Amino acid sequence: MKIHEFQAKQLLRDAGIPVPSSIVVETSAAAQEAFTELGSAVAVVKAQIHAGGRGKGTITTDPDQHGVQLVKSAQEAAQVAGRILGQPLRTIQTGPEGQTVRQVLVEEGCDIARELYLGIVIDRGCGLPVLMVSSQGGMNIEEVAANTPELIFKEPFHPDRGLQSYQVRKLAQKLELSGGSVRSADKFMKALCRLFVELDCSLAEINPLVVTGAGELLALDAKISFDDNGLFRHPQIAELRDLREEEPAEVRAGEAGLSYVKLDGNIGCLVNGAGLAMSTMDLIKLHGGEPANFLDVGGGADVDQVTEAFGILLEDKNVKAVLVNIFGGIMRCTTIANALLEAYKTVGFNVPLVVRLEGTEVEQGRKIIAASDVDIITSEGLTDAAKKVVAAAT
Ligand code: ADP
Ligand code: MG
Repeated sequence: MKIHEFQAKQLLRDAGIPVPSSIVVETSAAAQEAFTELGSAVAVVKAQIHAGGRGKGTITTDPDQHGVQLVKSAQEAAQVAGRILGQPLRTIQTGPEGQTVRQVLVEEGCDIARELYLGIVIDRGCGLPVLMVSSQGGMNIEEVAANTPELIFKEPFHPDRGLQSYQVRKLAQKLELSGGSVRSADKFMKALCRLFVELDCSLAEINPLVVTGAGELLALDAKISFDDNGLFRHPQIAELRDLREEEPAEVRAGEAGLSYVKLDGNIGCLVNGAGLAMSTMDLIKLHGGEPANFLDVGGGADVDQVTEAFGILLEDKNVKAVLVNIFGGIMRCTTIANALLEAYKTVGFNVPLVVRLEGTEVEQGRKIIAASDVDIITSEGLTDAAKKVVAAAT
């Protein structure tokens, strides 16, 4: 789960990590008031969307307007907020159509001496969270990672013991910090590593991490994402979810207890089990097709879930054929065969449907499908199914 910058910054504040003062608003009049309330000579108006690259991003209908802009008066704050609010902002992380901005953060201007990068992710290789830093922070970090990865320094840390002082010293040296900045980095880095573990984060990224003129470290941007599987432990975090920022089909699938991720291809997949879903997608690609989605209906899918799954798949106009790949373990193939027929009738199919069934009660399941008047392409084995659905989609 992703959250907005202003929400992430509140979590940082709560953890004692320095962030600039700011006020989140939804209207240009409120932006004007916010500027006055902050009382700083310079402020920054920042679009709040679940995507980075806002500073370089532009409003699609107003290409001179970027998603982050410095303003020097309350009137200017109102004017800039007016140009951003309600408009689609396109960045390297959004699609070409951009994402609608519903809130802007009005933040006090910061005296920036240096822009560093700091990020925490889980390193699956060593099975630990890893803190990454670079002296080349700011808006070009993707290029740094691609062209000069040696300028990014990493320290894995133990989730219980946390980041150690010697690790901070190592990183501080790489960042060419000195004196008070090292002490500031020690507090900042340790607190962020603790927050990452305590809140079950999957990503915590501060870019830029600013060294101010006074030598203090300050989080000027903040991006935090959470492991969905840990959310039940943090109801206060789950409340921060903004469904308007998420893919509508994925929200709908979540409500039905389905795991769905939309992709760019034209073959809809309905599969039970995440591992089987992954191998189904692999086989489709192996035979020259492109999956339109990942969809796991889970181990105990019922008629309602299968109906909902078909509904979601077919709503995607790119879908030219559907592959149902079910391995009956606990679930019986007869149950799924009946559910398929029910759902097929309810949803109203307009593209070819290929079905591969295997496992418990498979013979009876196949008979049910064969005996029905529904137009289904049956298959023998996964390879056969993949070939047939790729052919049906082209
Ligand atoms: P994004 O990463 O989405 O482009 P950022 O929050 O990193 O958005 O802002 C982009 C740039 O804008 C930063 O690298 C920084 O140079 C500048 N900036 C952001 N917030 C402030 C601020 N409060 N004061 C001064 N400059 C800022
Ligand atoms: Mg940034």
